[in-house]
Amino acid sequence: MEDVNFRDGNKIETDKEFERALRPLNFDDFQGQRKIVDNLQVFVSAAKMRKESLDHVILHGPPGLGKTTLSVIIANELNVGIKITSGPVLDKPGDLAGLLTNLEENDVLFIDEIHRLSPIVEEYLYSAMEDYRIDIMLDKGPAARSVQIQINPFTLIGATTRSGLLTAPLRARFGINCHLEYYDAQVLRGIIERSARILDVVIDKQATEEIASRSRGTPRIANSLLRRVRDFAMVKGNGAIDQEITHYALEALNIDKYGLDEMDNKILLTILEKFNGGPVGLTTIATAVGEDAGTLEEVYEPFLIKEGFIKRTPRGREVTELAFRHLGKDIRTLEWQPTLFS
Ligand code: ADP
Repeated sequence: MEDVNFRDGNKIETDKEFERALRPLNFDDFQGQRKIVDNLQVFVSAAKMRKESLDHVILHGPPGLGKTTLSVIIANELNVGIKITSGPVLDKPGDLAGLLTNLEENDVLFIDEIHRLSPIVEEYLYSAMEDYRIDIMLDKGPAARSVQIQINPFTLIGATTRSGLLTAPLRARFGINCHLEYYDAQVLRGIIERSARILDVVIDKQATEEIASRSRGTPRIANSLLRRVRDFAMVKGNGAIDQEITHYALEALNIDKYGLDEMDNKILLTILEKFNGGPVGLTTIATAVGEDAGTLEEVYEPFLIKEGFIKRTPRGREVTELAFRHLGKDIRTLEWQPTLFS
């Protein structure tokens, strides 16, 4: 459900509007992911010099890391239009044909959650991506026939949180492949400072650091925490964000010290309590927490590994000492000591 806030009399500010306001519109404002951005800048400049469409791009990585933002930036930097849709919305080829025939030369078509395209829509996309041609059905019944039409050259940007679910033929049709990583605290601090400037709110260094460290390496979470803390600062303080009000707000919001969310904690607790700290296989964990194994592997686990809560071993996943401390458990309570701290 969309979160709606009433502020400034009758002004309505939703999460979506808020995200839009803070979304960087050019490469210079997009912080972090340096390698990806540097490469994309080269490819965008080259396409502009040749006056051609940019090669198709696939962006993969966990939610909230900037896939949509990068796509909008690419279109802006190419000086072309962008149409935004998502895999589950396109349920028949006709939906896609409508979008494709409306693209102007070298425009960008952004398909979020592209791994959720239905097989027939995906197949329909192939010839559009390759030769900028699509088949259109004319008439119905016995008179039905298809004609091939040429569409304008365009760039497809696909975004996915689950690159493991992309089919090989689709994957092969993307010339540019970018994997977005979680952000480190320093980059997140920069993002929070920029957002605070746009929102015209005063925030001190310690508060910025505190929010950055609890944002699960994710700009979307950093921005939404900033927004929540700003609310507390307005109502419970003098409007400025300092460390004290930040602590107060984060406590009130029940935000974990490391920024772990409910599912992260559930995974750690499951390995620890049900499987004695591990090692335990991914599918077993997935069944125990009621989540799909692929989502666990591609969406949740990378952050837990990056932050040192879990390690991957040939025999399965194990929690680390940090996870024990975080969950307030004592390793001596285990019946059997895994190779935890080697
Ligand atoms: P995704 O499409 O990967 O789920 P989005 O592109 O929607 O993520 O990003 C979520 C929000 O985070 C955006 O509103 C944007 O303001 C912010 N954001 C993401 N990446 C960056 C970045 N590198 N620099 C600044 N803000 C960012």
